[in-house]
Amino acid sequence: MKDSYGRDVSYLRISVTDRCNFRCRYCMPFEGVPAARHDEMLSFDDIVRIARTANELGIRAFRITGGEPLVRRGLPDLIRALRDHCEIDDLSMTTNAFLLPRFARELKDAGLDRVNISIDSLDPEKFRWIARGGDLETVLRGLDAALEVGFDPIKTNTVVMGGFNDDEIIDLIDYLTIDKPVSARFIEYMPIGEAPRAGLEYVDLTAKREELTAKYGLEPAEISRGHGPASYWRVRGGAGLVGFITPISDKYCGTCSRLRLDARGVVRPCIAYDFGVSLRNALHDGGTERVRELIEGIILNKPKEHHWETGEVSPVSMSALGG
Ligand code: SAM
Repeated sequence: MKDSYGRDVSYLRISVTDRCNFRCRYCMPFEGVPAARHDEMLSFDDIVRIARTANELGIRAFRITGGEPLVRRGLPDLIRALRDHCEIDDLSMTTNAFLLPRFARELKDAGLDRVNISIDSLDPEKFRWIARGGDLETVLRGLDAALEVGFDPIKTNTVVMGGFNDDEIIDLIDYLTIDKPVSARFIEYMPIGEAPRAGLEYVDLTAKREELTAKYGLEPAEISRGHGPASYWRVRGGAGLVGFITPISDKYCGTCSRLRLDARGVVRPCIAYDFGVSLRNALHDGGTERVRELIEGIILNKPKEHHWETGEVSPVSMSALGG
């Protein structure tokens, strides 16, 4: 279905929990956030019913996220149920990969197509500092497990922060893309939730990309942009790709195709605004007909764009929303 600006809304990100086993400084306070009680959260059955209703409106791409999706018990059962009961062209998950060594095979067998793995540093000390949980070695084993079971494509997310990891971009490109068929993506630091308070610095990745292209010989990769906003490049002869996600320096709101469903069942049309409606209440009170009406309304009210480039910040918690 198209929104009021003519954008085709075809993609739903589903946060299955607001809990996380990490405490990334820019995402969640150290003491965590007030997590939803079990009885406030969408059940797997609720999620499948909402996804089927979304199907009726032309949404056939789904991403499972969180919090950390793998801390939700029985997640492979949800993947299997979505596969069995919905029409899906693309089923993916964003994860910190800490639990992937344990779950990669089961997720693949359940029908998950692909994973995006968050890695902010290849230095074990820096990794521990930023994530305040987990450890780099297990995360890299998670990446290896993902490669081994054949998720394809595998993408990584690195949020680039000035003075923290902006000097690691080339190391990450080398480690992730020269021999491995991985798409290493670098993301601009968005002023959402915890981020404006975390004391970490935004880096303009359009400028950074131009600098890298000149110094390091990145070449544009001729691939379609898929559902996502990344522009892709490659190191000559490398097995993988290099992506840049530049919501601030090169705004892509004009092609945004997504909605977000949080773990409590609130659907939101835009990451930048704390505006949404509860599908959980609607599902329990009015059934899927009412859910459909509400999703249509949310699509028609999808904001045109964020205004972060003017210094505006967004109060929504990224961990609740599902980044
Ligand atoms: N726990 C999972 C993970 O670590 O991938 C999924 C949830 S996490 C919120 C999803 C993604 O959002 C991560 O790649 C994270 O780095 C990114 N993210 C969180 N806050 C961000 C911010 N302020 N700017 C840019 N990316 C952010």
